Amino acid sequence: MKVNQAYVEIKGIPFLNTTHSELLQKYLVPSLLNENVFLVTANPEIVMEADRDPEYAEILRQADYVIADGIGVVIGSKLMRQPLPERIPGFEVMQDLLAQADREQLRCYFLGAKDTVLKKAINEIQKMYPRLIVSGYHHGYFELNDPEVVNTVKKAKPDIVFVGLGFPNQEKWIHEFRNEFTHGLFMGVGGSIDGLAGDVKRAPVLWRKLNLEWFYRLIQQPTRWKRMLQLPRFIWHILLKK
Ligand code: UDP
Repeated sequence: MKVNQAYVEIKGIPFLNTTHSELLQKYLVPSLLNENVFLVTANPEIVMEADRDPEYAEILRQADYVIADGIGVVIGSKLMRQPLPERIPGFEVMQDLLAQADREQLRCYFLGAKDTVLKKAINEIQKMYPRLIVSGYHHGYFELNDPEVVNTVKKAKPDIVFVGLGFPNQEKWIHEFRNEFTHGLFMGVGGSIDGLAGDVKRAPVLWRKLNLEWFYRLIQQPTRWKRMLQLPRFIWHILLKK
């Protein structure tokens, strides 16, 4: 990673030092249709997975942009006295890109989630963004290196590829195959396809404003508690380094 004021490095991961609107206007929108861009939306769980798995860490370092999707990352940056300006929720970035695709009639591919959930999401997307072109979709339950899947995506000639396989597989898939595409914005979207399908509800606005979205998710999906222990571990690691 270059030493650059545009980045804040947290546990070896270079986070783009930017706001939500600047991310879209300066970095993402101008690259659409002509560049090949890999965007990672990273929360503390992702940073801790990178800490455990050096291969995954390298994949994140080779992405074009890593943004702070999670209040934990912003708190971590403040503890390091290199504050990132704000949390940039991946789900909202996906919605912004869908809106942009609707305005510009871009071709979007959706890879991930269970088949029924994905079809529900596609239905919703077509209702909400009628000018966006759904260039194709494929559920997320396949062998990661299956060449048939990437060939199907390539044939669809997408401008944006949303990959919702959960981490680390979504980033591994993008890293492995993005260079087979002439252009495209590739983004790992975690459970956002489930969100668009209405299967997983987002926290109400007040909870989000209070930065308690993580807590709302925990109540909705209590099985996530183990994963969420990564948040205090992450903060602890940063404090230890100070
Ligand atoms: N998923 C998938 N293939 C798999 C495992 C998971 O497509 O082999 C999907 C799953 O259906 C869900 C998403 O990946 O849509 C992961 O959601 P999760 O909430 O775990 O992701 P997060 O937002 O926490 O990264």
